[in-house]
Amino acid sequence: MDLDNLKPIVALCKRRGFIYPGSEIYGGFANTYSYGPYGAELKKNIKDLWWKNFVRQREDMVGIDGPILLHPLTWKASGHIESFNDALVDCKACKSRFRIDHLLEEGLKKNVEGLSLQELTDLLNNSKINCPRCGKKDFTEARHFNLMFQTQMSKTSEKGSDVAYLRPETAQAIFLDFKNIVDTMRVKIPFGIAQIGKAFRNEITPGNFIFRVIEFEQMEIEYFIQEAAWQTSFESWLQDMHKWCHLIGLNPNKLKEKEHPQEKLSHYSKRTVDIMYEFPFGLNELYGIAYRTDFDLNQHNKYADIKQEYIDRTTNQKYIPHVIEPTFGVDRTILALLCDAYDVETLENNETRTVLHFASNIAPVKAAIFPLMNKEDLSSKAREIFRMLNTHFNCEYDDGGAIGRRYRRQDELGTPYCLTIDYQTLEDNTVTIRDRDSMKQERIPISNLLSCLKEKLNCD
Ligand code: ATP
Repeated sequence: MDLDNLKPIVALCKRRGFIYPGSEIYGGFANTYSYGPYGAELKKNIKDLWWKNFVRQREDMVGIDGPILLHPLTWKASGHIESFNDALVDCKACKSRFRIDHLLEEGLKKNVEGLSLQELTDLLNNSKINCPRCGKKDFTEARHFNLMFQTQMSKTSEKGSDVAYLRPETAQAIFLDFKNIVDTMRVKIPFGIAQIGKAFRNEITPGNFIFRVIEFEQMEIEYFIQEAAWQTSFESWLQDMHKWCHLIGLNPNKLKEKEHPQEKLSHYSKRTVDIMYEFPFGLNELYGIAYRTDFDLNQHNKYADIKQEYIDRTTNQKYIPHVIEPTFGVDRTILALLCDAYDVETLENNETRTVLHFASNIAPVKAAIFPLMNKEDLSSKAREIFRMLNTHFNCEYDDGGAIGRRYRRQDELGTPYCLTIDYQTLEDNTVTIRDRDSMKQERIPISNLLSCLKEKLNCD
């Protein structure tokens, strides 16, 4: 594991307004983060591109924006109250908390899936594994810990419960609206419902920056099919997920597929494949795709008063559809993109520059506009150009310091193009455009600027 490789990225994120530690003025609030101005732009670009790619550009998809708080029975029906648990142990000496399966699997290099709490406790006590933090061997008994955050509602009469849960996945909000979509949207199977939104998990061992946090965003699809179509649909969605990785510019050499063995599948899944990314701290899950069968709709069919059936209007056949679920974590996408894009280059003059080689479709700033000097005539021309371009894509105006320093600032943000307005601009209406990756400059007429940038950035 090379955690050190993550440190400069974490530092850059804070220094340049991508990602700040959560609640920092109160000493921090562990495993929460706040996306600063450039992080928020990056995140928005990813979500917009995903929505365009998977919802707007497809005839078989619709999107929703469901609530975070769902009826508590949802989680009973989905199995989360009973099974969304991790087994944990505490070190009595240093009070650190661990997932016992992680401790054992790392220490013994074997799969401990399916063992009871007592068996896990005995295995740990009889092993040579000590606390990874303090080195002592003084663990509590293993116990189950449900990962859902609970919150208290003002007392309701509904089925006697006033506990609500912050959703641990966006998927259930989609299942709860399945019937509404079928009744109002004239959709025909196969079709999918997509959603982007927050999910919350009280993770026992969060960490690795934004890789595992307690509040995160998911971009999820539930794709409804006939049972017989599940294998072809699964394969086709898996390919679409790879195409997405390519679209946002992830390095294909860092991506690998991991098939979940049958004994490790979640209670609802018949097949799961993870798309793994080679993070600086090891190969870990970036995205996942699962064949959830008809488990969820069947469960809601049992617990809710409304039947979850679909009626095929041509054959009058009634059935509960099966589901393929491609799921994408927004925060892990951002981390993978940052790790891929980050580079420290040595230049010909032996100076170094830090640069983020973001693909232009996700780069937070598309072009930066610099007046060569902070002089009235140059500034007003530069502002005019800034206003012209900024209505089409996100631009930044920067008149502070030497041009070289302004280039370095934009390199660190991953801005693909910098435009300089100089005295020649005032004479012949041309500007220099500098490419982030090659650092080459060319002069182009202002009249061609917008179309030229649109072509280079590959945007409308
Ligand atoms: P892991 O095995 O890493 O805990 P998971 O298999 O439980 O992940 P899923 O339930 O499949 O994750 O969630 C879908 C996606 O949501 C994941 O592929 C990941 O991108 C993202 N995700 C899940 N948990 C977290 C978390 N704690 N922090 C950030 N992103 C997360």
